[in-house]
Amino acid sequence: MDFNFSVEHNSLRETVRRHMEEEAAPFVRQSDESETFPKQLFRRWGELGMLAARYPESDGGVGMDKVSDCIIREEIARVSQAYCAAFSAHSHLGMWPIWKVGTSLQKEQYFDPAAAGEKVACFGLSEPDGGSDIRAMKTRANKVDGGWKITGSKLYITNSPIADFMTLAARTKPDLSADAVSLFIVDLPTQGLTIDSLKKEGLRGSETGLLHIDDLFVPDSHLLGEKEGTYPVILESLSENRVGVSASVLGLARGAYEEALQFAKARIVRGKPIIDYQAVAHRLADMATDIEASRWMVYWGAWKVDQGTLTDAEASKIKLVASEAALRVTENAIRIMGGAGIMRDHKVGMHHRDALVYVIGEGTSDIQRNIIARALKKGEVND
Ligand SMILES: Cc1cc2nc3c(=O)[nH]c(=O)nc-3n(C[C@H](O)[C@H](O)[C@H](O)COP(=O)(O)OP(=O)(O)OC[C@H]3O[C@@H](n4cnc5c(N)ncnc54)[C@H](O)[C@@H]3O)c2cc1C
Repeated sequence: MDFNFSVEHNSLRETVRRHMEEEAAPFVRQSDESETFPKQLFRRWGELGMLAARYPESDGGVGMDKVSDCIIREEIARVSQAYCAAFSAHSHLGMWPIWKVGTSLQKEQYFDPAAAGEKVACFGLSEPDGGSDIRAMKTRANKVDGGWKITGSKLYITNSPIADFMTLAARTKPDLSADAVSLFIVDLPTQGLTIDSLKKEGLRGSETGLLHIDDLFVPDSHLLGEKEGTYPVILESLSENRVGVSASVLGLARGAYEEALQFAKARIVRGKPIIDYQAVAHRLADMATDIEASRWMVYWGAWKVDQGTLTDAEASKIKLVASEAALRVTENAIRIMGGAGIMRDHKVGMHHRDALVYVIGEGTSDIQRNIIARALKKGEVND
């Protein structure tokens, strides 16, 4: 057992941290206020190799491991979880299915430019009637000459207002079975699809849309993978992404903790720094412990992805622990900082709003518990 990061991992962390502090942090407050994402960051992330870090070199990626992907996400989210949501919707949710089951032409037209940050990707799965329950999906793709006509709606789609294409899930048979689900690549913007930008309490620096899809034509060449065969691809993608998302909430928790710790050392009340009050010191101790617990679960999960042994239940345990821990850490950070924690010139309030999104997005905590409990019932337990 080796619990150390490699020299390469440490150097990657340093590079991404420097980039985020120097080139991204200056935009964060303005993004949070205006609810816009600085799209030029995608180009920069492409240049730095961050968007395709975890894909094999033979497929146009950088050939790093999942541990590296988690380091990148942790460092992005330490500065802005909203930016990391944009990163995740693009580099994982949008790109991963194309890498996994796309044709060489689809890879050339969509994966490669997305890896370079020249095209922005999003992923359309959730719907007004089916967020937690994928099988309740109603968006229908009907076969027509030369392609498909798609009608339906997609809700809470990250990056959609700024995206150049979407990996879209739709039903190709009227029944509600899993094997009726197919994936398509849709160019954006396009006729037959309108996007309403949504106003959010959290992740305000990422852009999120409600999509109305009405008789949208998609050519046959944009069917992704096998018709009615990509439900397992979606599940595998979501399961693996739970580890990456957990790395990002670990990062946002660290961002809030570091700010609160610094504040607690500097803030003098009744003649002494507040860190010398036991109530504050204990909160900091709880925060540090929550972060440490998340860190070990996240990087254990990343290591398991690299070994090809991560189970759905393990991914869910990691997401459950990391997201609930981040919520506690960010709340503690605000309590420690008192009134200052509520003010927008500090970042702990933003981190707390963002942490709230992650007990919901990418599968709510209840859904993670359902997955874990199902595995327990089947007798799938860790050694
Ligand atoms: C900011 C943001 C960005 C997002 N980005 C994307 C994106 O890019 N692409 C995408 O496809 N989706 C995206 N989502 C959607 C996200 O994955 C869903 O919001 C999430 O899956 C929950 O679905 P819902 O909002 O419909 O909640 P619901 O499914 O309506 O759940 C409401 C409540 O009921 C509980 N519940 C529901 N079903 C069960 C059950 N079986 N057992 C126990 N409890 C249950 C839930 O835990 C929750 O407390 C995003 C969401 C947000 C908030």
